[in-house]
Parts: sequence; structure tokens; C-alpha cells
Amino acid sequence: MRRIDHIIYHCSATRADCDYPVEALHRDHLSRGFKGIGYHFYITRNGQVHATRPLGMDGAHCQGHNRHSIGICYEGGLNSEGQPADTRTAAQREAMHRLTAQLLRRFHNVRLCGHRDLSPDRNGNGEVEPHEWLKQCPCFDVAKEL
Ligand SMILES: [Zn+2]
Repeated sequence: MRRIDHIIYHCSATRADCDYPVEALHRDHLSRGFKGIGYHFYITRNGQVHATRPLGMDGAHCQGHNRHSIGICYEGGLNSEGQPADTRTAAQREAMHRLTAQLLRRFHNVRLCGHRDLSPDRNGNGEVEPHEWLKQCPCFDVAKEL
């Protein structure tokens, strides 16, 4: 097994009122040249957790952090205007919490963070602040919630 020191949360950056099923994600990641879906888990709006990449395999979801992390993505992240928003359904939220608890029983000393939290700390004050985020993904505060 790889050493795991981060669990990184993402959104699919698709509109919450449009379906983005696991098959579409798979197709899109193949066309970006990935060996299948880049995340290890994908949580669709109905709360179903899809295991999309073996945990022993490096991810393809966060540059510079793929070797030692697990990537989890939820379907959505944009509202009906196409603006970044926490669009998780109650079922998705619950599934995310359950999955996180399972992973934390297996992997220890792991930092939970959002994709945006790994943006570069450009002013070097030791904190990645909202104005430094390269993108909004996953559109919720992982440290506060999980
Ligand atoms: Zn992301």
C-alpha cells in the first residue's frame, strides 16, 4: 500500500441540476489522458459511493499531491447559474462523512483538505486564504466540516 497522508475533496464542477453520471466522468477523464477516473471515489447526488480507482494506485486529481493522497469527488459544485456553490445533497453529505470515517479507521495521521486548500500560499503567511485559491473546488470548508 502507498503511504497516505492526505484525503483531498473535490467537486466535479458540473451544474447540480444536470446529471453527471460516473460513465460521463470516466469518458471525460480518459479523454484527458488519465488511466481511468483520476479520483478514488465519486459520490453521485443520490449518495451512492462509486469506487473509481484502486486505493493502491496514485491518483490523478491534484498536481503535486497525487502520490500520497486519496481523492474523493462529489457530483456537482455549480449552481443552476453555473456559479461555484456547495450543492451537495443530504445523501451526498452523509455518504461523504461515512466514507471519510471508514478511511480514517484504515489510514492514520491523514490531513483532510479541499482541493482549493492546496493552492500555493502566495503571500507566504502560512495560510492559504480565499483570494489565493486557484479554484473554488470543492466549494465547502473541509477543515470546518470534516
Ligand atoms: Zn478539484
